[in-house]
Amino acid sequence: MTEELLYAGKAKSIYRSDSPDELIVVFRDDITAFDGGKKDVLAGKGEYNARVSARLFELLEAAGVPTHLLAVEGPGRMRVRWLTMIPLEVIVRNIAAGSLVRNYPFEEGSRLDPPLIVIDYKDDTRHDPMLNDEIVLALRLATQAELDELKALALRVNEVLNGVFADLGILLVDFKIEFGRDAGGRIRLGDEISMDSMRLWDGETRESLDKDVYRFAKGDVLSTYARVADRILGDE
Ligand code: 5GP
Repeated sequence: MTEELLYAGKAKSIYRSDSPDELIVVFRDDITAFDGGKKDVLAGKGEYNARVSARLFELLEAAGVPTHLLAVEGPGRMRVRWLTMIPLEVIVRNIAAGSLVRNYPFEEGSRLDPPLIVIDYKDDTRHDPMLNDEIVLALRLATQAELDELKALALRVNEVLNGVFADLGILLVDFKIEFGRDAGGRIRLGDEISMDSMRLWDGETRESLDKDVYRFAKGDVLSTYARVADRILGDE
């Protein structure tokens, strides 16, 4: 049976499943940066990201964060609940890096306490501009109650992931998550949480263990992803 492709993003494809409320997400081996300006294919990358994402979603569900994950269906494939996605990139930052230090006078590597939440508008053609609550409300992207819930969930995700990475000797510098509404209108974490969407530094050396290795040609991307996946997944 040929599956019906519903949507192809830069690194994942979404297919219709045998159930109307469920979708199949395929994590592809494509890797892109700078709004698609840099592109490559790295055999095996999709599987690493799918496995890490699934593990982190499972840990988050267990900690009370509703996610879209239903099941892992073979290498690089996940069965998920159908969500109507909210076009917001919710970013949590524990340590100043990336666009925060490019755009504001923060010193790279300084601790942000309490963590910062930044919300960007998910639109590559506009380079994902930063939003504030007033713009979100004026564009009717979410209600104030939903925004409050997204922020509370994002901080909870941060707590859980900080615990996971602290145990592995990895610093969770920042990460980006996306949310959607399920058939009952409930907000759930969707998309992925992987080495493509988190900024991770080795706790000792502060070496990058994430997509910055690809963005800034800091080393071998695939072996970095493999090492991080092994650390997160343990003896799975
Ligand atoms: P920054 O704003 O510093 O570029 O990114 C902050 C964090 O959010 C980083 O961990 C980065 O990987 C993630 N992030 C921001 N925008 C995107 C995006 O469009 N796609 C993905 N996969 N991650 C993003």
